[in-house]
Amino acid sequence: MLLTLSTTHRPATDLGYLLRKNPARPQSFELTFGKAHVFYPEAGDERCSVALLVEVDPIGLVRKRRGPGGEGGLLDQYVNDRPYAASSFLSVAIAEVFGSALSGTECKDRPGLAETPLPLSVQIPALPCRAGGEDFLRQLFEPLGYRVTATRLPLDAQFPEWGESSHFRVELAATLPLHQFLSHLYVLVPVLDNDKHYWVGDDEVAKLLRHGEGWLATHPEREAITRRYLKHQRSLVTEALAQLVDESDPEPDETAAAQVQEEEAVERVLSLNEQRLGTVLAALRASGAPSVLDLGCGEGRLLQLLLKERQFTRIVGVDVSHRVLEMAAEKLHYDRLPTLQKERLRLLHGSLMYRDERLAGFDAAAVVEVIEHLDPPRLAAFERVLFECARPATVVLTTPNSEYNVKWPTLPAGKFRHRDHRFEWTRAEFQEWAQGVASRFGYTVRFLPVGPEDAAVGSPTQMGIFERSQP
Ligand code: SAH
Repeated sequence: MLLTLSTTHRPATDLGYLLRKNPARPQSFELTFGKAHVFYPEAGDERCSVALLVEVDPIGLVRKRRGPGGEGGLLDQYVNDRPYAASSFLSVAIAEVFGSALSGTECKDRPGLAETPLPLSVQIPALPCRAGGEDFLRQLFEPLGYRVTATRLPLDAQFPEWGESSHFRVELAATLPLHQFLSHLYVLVPVLDNDKHYWVGDDEVAKLLRHGEGWLATHPEREAITRRYLKHQRSLVTEALAQLVDESDPEPDETAAAQVQEEEAVERVLSLNEQRLGTVLAALRASGAPSVLDLGCGEGRLLQLLLKERQFTRIVGVDVSHRVLEMAAEKLHYDRLPTLQKERLRLLHGSLMYRDERLAGFDAAAVVEVIEHLDPPRLAAFERVLFECARPATVVLTTPNSEYNVKWPTLPAGKFRHRDHRFEWTRAEFQEWAQGVASRFGYTVRFLPVGPEDAAVGSPTQMGIFERSQP
């Protein structure tokens, strides 16, 4: 089996330092199940590629089979795809041959490079995607920011009538620190293969958590990944899932509460908040929607306005932070609401990164000043949660217009309006994203400025109103 990893980082031959493998010298390594060879098909300043060729001895594998439960499945046969297809053998080879690069150990000849995002791509000529096919391949890699190119391979090129195989020729490209790139491959290649060769035990949970650090906890497919990685052994899966916490934000509640208040402080000058909520409310009113979701509802200011209008008979606020939901319940005097009002309103704890059946069946959704708090690689997951799974007829979404930032007297130049903002978009950037979402998911979108409009830089907030055009 073969994997080719390339970079266009300058100088590209720095890849050799990170991997601790000299481009000028091919090397071979003994593994318990065969051999690994490392060599560089190209090593220039502009582009450098390293190949990892793993030879697996299929007969030795079947003969050596032992251990409780055995490997079963494909390995019952002498003739199997193990010599050719990327599988957990490849992960073992990556860990053995590129161990320091995988763990992100600093390289003393190139300080800082291990953590530097590099333009990387990997070609895998035969990657088995059992169960789930190309869709699952994309669901695994796209939320992590990869561009995925996949071509399904025929079972046998000489006998096209035999049809297609479950194997794909795959190229994955992303700009990431090398250790993250390798960790993703280490975990996800066996997940796609779904037929791990070695006995799964407790240290597998530790390995999964170690290599999944920083990305698995927030991956929309983390349950499927964990289940398949741990070969569907329920007790291990439960143990691993219980340990997966979103370590990117150690104090989500604290951050969210501070977030809401800081944003207020910067924007107070214009009482932009009120104008924004007024505009959102008007759009929701105009949609005629009886049922409305407020996604990332924060302290519930929009919920308060919605409750006052008879049109809205079912109102649900969702937020990832317990703390702000408590603040919302307090602000809305939820405990003291008359029964009829209480029945109209619900507060749900949930993340917009995960598919959630509770969000289906609503006429409209508001997403006010929320997307800029999501990591760009995870936006794709959010898009699917909202536009594919929840799929309301109308979505009213707002986000800051970064062009306007030069006009804030209280905002230092070059800064976002809030330190938790992961990005702020210009009008062109927002519109490009929104048009893309609309066309991918069968919506139309139109744009409205919110707040005082400046001839050169536009208005402080930008709003997109999406309307579903396909069922
Ligand atoms: N819509 C409100 C709050 C905006 S602040 C308003 O306009 O006043 C952003 C809110 O998004 C915070 O309350 C934060 O907790 C929430 N949030 C951030 N990431 C989220 C996620 N992944 N899922 C759900 N809510 C999230």
